[in-house]
Amino acid sequence: MKTAFSQNRIERTFSGYLIIILIPLGVLMYQGTSALKNHRRQIENTIDSQLRSLGNEFVRHLSDEWQNFLTRERVREYLLYQPLVLPDKDSIRSEGEAVQRSTLYSYVNNLAKLYHENNTINNNTGQPAVLSPSLDQIIKKSLVGYFQFDPSDRTFITPYDETAVFQTGPREARMIAQYRNFLDEVLKPELVVQLDIVNRRNVTPRDIWFHLKAHRLNKVVEPIDRINQVRKRLNKPVLVSDSNVVEISYYDFSFFNFESENDRFVVGLRTVVMDNHVVVQGFVFNTLSMITEAQSYLELIQPEVGSLVVEEFTPNDSVALFYPFSLLSVAFKRGGDQKYLQNYRAEERRFWIIMVCLTIALGVSSLHLGKLIFANQRLHRKKNDFISSITHELKAPLTSIIMYTEMLEEGWAKGKEPTYYRYIHCEADRLSRLIKNILDFSGLERGIFKFKKSSLLLHTFIEDTLEPLHVWMENGGMKVELKIDATPFVKIDKDSLAQVIYNLCDNAIKYATSADTPVLTIIVTETKTHARLLIYDNGPGIPKSDEPKIFQRFYRVENELTRESTGTGLGLALVKELVEGNDGIISIYHPASGRGFGVKIDIPKVMVDVDLVSRN
Ligand code: ADP
Repeated sequence: MKTAFSQNRIERTFSGYLIIILIPLGVLMYQGTSALKNHRRQIENTIDSQLRSLGNEFVRHLSDEWQNFLTRERVREYLLYQPLVLPDKDSIRSEGEAVQRSTLYSYVNNLAKLYHENNTINNNTGQPAVLSPSLDQIIKKSLVGYFQFDPSDRTFITPYDETAVFQTGPREARMIAQYRNFLDEVLKPELVVQLDIVNRRNVTPRDIWFHLKAHRLNKVVEPIDRINQVRKRLNKPVLVSDSNVVEISYYDFSFFNFESENDRFVVGLRTVVMDNHVVVQGFVFNTLSMITEAQSYLELIQPEVGSLVVEEFTPNDSVALFYPFSLLSVAFKRGGDQKYLQNYRAEERRFWIIMVCLTIALGVSSLHLGKLIFANQRLHRKKNDFISSITHELKAPLTSIIMYTEMLEEGWAKGKEPTYYRYIHCEADRLSRLIKNILDFSGLERGIFKFKKSSLLLHTFIEDTLEPLHVWMENGGMKVELKIDATPFVKIDKDSLAQVIYNLCDNAIKYATSADTPVLTIIVTETKTHARLLIYDNGPGIPKSDEPKIFQRFYRVENELTRESTGTGLGLALVKELVEGNDGIISIYHPASGRGFGVKIDIPKVMVDVDLVSRN
């Protein structure tokens, strides 16, 4: 009851210890993983804000370029809007030449320039320079072309004779034809809607200004000759004017977005008024081409930690472009984890390695502690068992002795005295050997046991040892058979080896008398180097699983036999210690019959002067 109680207490203490370890370990793991998670979120937020500010910067600079473009366009001459395709004011030497400046031409021409400029690294940031003036190219290259539209007769005005052969060859002519087609078929219907002149015959300048809500920008005065030249080429009536100059009013741009079958456009419109005649001038941007152009620019400045993509506006993780391109945005996406999380990953790996090591260390030490606790507990239990069995062991021969002496005293053993004296002697012997077993064991434990070795013939020693044991063995129901196959010399401590033989005989009586004819066989033989003792019985033996533990202290096989017989579990442990004290080796021996328990004891042989020994 007490043992069960203390066992429960030990188990509870051990479980408590495990909980005390597991709780901080769990807390540590939870804290560590959430710290790692926060760290990762921080890294990602930092990257997102880096990408956002890069996107913002790009949009701001593009917007600046757009403002520059508008400022230039606001004051661009009336006449320069009339060429059909993209004019480049700086390179126009004569009016007719402007037509050569096709989008295609400037695209190819400027692309090389753009790449060159973007490969210049900004000295301060070490990044490619976002401030590059080539952002202007994105705007230029998305520009489809310019146009002039007369709302009164709904025609696009061109100063060129379409049948004329262009200096630049058929490709330019084809481009102009394509553009004209675009103006007539795609732009015009939309323009008519935007100007609100679908069903109107007479359109006044007021109508147009009012509708477009355009602001007057400035007034310029053009020589009448120049205007007339244009008018003539346009096949329009020559402007009647008293003076030799014409006053032109420019109006600021207003914008509208529209979609054709395959494309999207942004159109800028201004009104130009001469006298009382109003025309609409404007330019067309291809929105999709703007995306492509901006993207090709962004490819050159992509940051390592992610990417910037110009696409149709998405509300999340993106920076919207400015009016009138508000339908576009620069979206940013973090790059692959492996790049920006490189350091974080190393940190994460370190954390888990530490956690695994800590867990293993705590696991192993808990296991070890548990083993120690339970081994200690087992030992404690065995010691308790030992004390109760030793008391019993001591009591049995004492009771016999008391009984025999009482019978002798009372005179009840008349005529049988010698037998009773022999019994008393045998029981006293048993008692003395039992006590010797305990004393030897504790002597060995404390290291005070002395082995007094002498050289002798092993078989003679065995014969002498067995001599007084015969009666006791026979009384115990055990026959002893001694076989001498060799006569080796050994150097041993006689008393201790006698104790070994006695213990093995005692066990045979206790555990092996169930056979029909119980026999304990002792064979003296030898190998090249060792004298060998084989001692075995024909009893039930012990299970194979118990063999490794049979020489441990206090170990007793759990079976009927041990339950019926008293014992301390010290006998075989002492046998082993004593054999080893004599430089011998003991191991389990399996009798050839396949039945019974046996041991094999090997003791080193010694070379001895035979005469000397026989004289002893
Ligand atoms: P004890 O005999 O005091 O129990 P021992 O150390 O001498 O302790 O023996 C340990 C156990 O080995 C015994 O309890 C018994 O179960 C088993 N044993 C020893 N000798 C024999 C034998 N000859 N036959 C069967 N079992 C044996």
